Amino acid sequence: AEDRLRQAQKMEAIGQLTGGIAHDFNNMLAVVLGALDLIDRRSAQGGKDMTRYVEAAREGATRAAALTRRLLDFARKTPLAPRAVDVNELIGDMLDLLRRTIGEGVAVATAFEDAAWYVTADPGQLENSIINLAVNARDAMPDGGTVSITTANRRLGEGDAGEWDVAPGDYVEIAVSDTGIGMPPDVAERAFEPFFTTKEVGKGTGLGLSQIFGFVGQSGGQVRIDSEPGSGTTVRILLPRDGDAARPRSPEREQAQGVPH
Ligand code: ADP
Repeated sequence: AEDRLRQAQKMEAIGQLTGGIAHDFNNMLAVVLGALDLIDRRSAQGGKDMTRYVEAAREGATRAAALTRRLLDFARKTPLAPRAVDVNELIGDMLDLLRRTIGEGVAVATAFEDAAWYVTADPGQLENSIINLAVNARDAMPDGGTVSITTANRRLGEGDAGEWDVAPGDYVEIAVSDTGIGMPPDVAERAFEPFFTTKEVGKGTGLGLSQIFGFVGQSGGQVRIDSEPGSGTTVRILLPRDGDAARPRSPEREQAQGVPH
């Protein structure tokens, strides 16, 4: 019976895929085609001031590419390639990209535990996860605010894992918080479902949190949502520490820390 339920859920997900995602994809292609049309017309008239249309085409194509990447992730056509990752460094290196992705009106703040451990995870998937969380946080704060990204080491002992439901061991927790609209209980309950979205057509795919759920679970970790309607949301990712405890941190970082600013 459980198998049949899962099969039914899969079929429902596929139905929503053809309806919702194909529609989104079409919208993005329409943007590209529209821009190309305008470029065509402009070029017949001497070809001035086309930057705007080239940009529009580029944006449409970029969004379409991001959508197919998410679909491929969802279908697990991209195999995970876990390795030792310095979480603080990975997030630090993404900050420019994050700020550009999130745009104006919403700030990005970080608070890193100084010597956060390395984790074993696919760095590309971890980056995607953080971008997805930051974009969700931004979407939850239409009037602006701050997305906070923090890291912390967590040693979870036998029987004292607290709110986490993972094997005892050493982990790194990455938390992304916002002071946005929060999730009502019915949304929080379904947030990890593939294709579940409360966003308008073209804005949400409902694949962000499900990607994170799959990736984090396969990496031996866990993801949790704490959300309060009207006051904000914190999504926390727990990833197992890399086994090679003796690994030195990156030399640039050691140097940067050794030099007084
Ligand atoms: P999408 O962002 O494309 O809708 P997700 O799987 O990332 O897909 O999120 C699913 C839903 O969970 C969102 O549509 C939204 O309703 C809710 N959600 C996710 N993150 C937040 C957040 N930070 N604050 C409020 N609601 C959120």
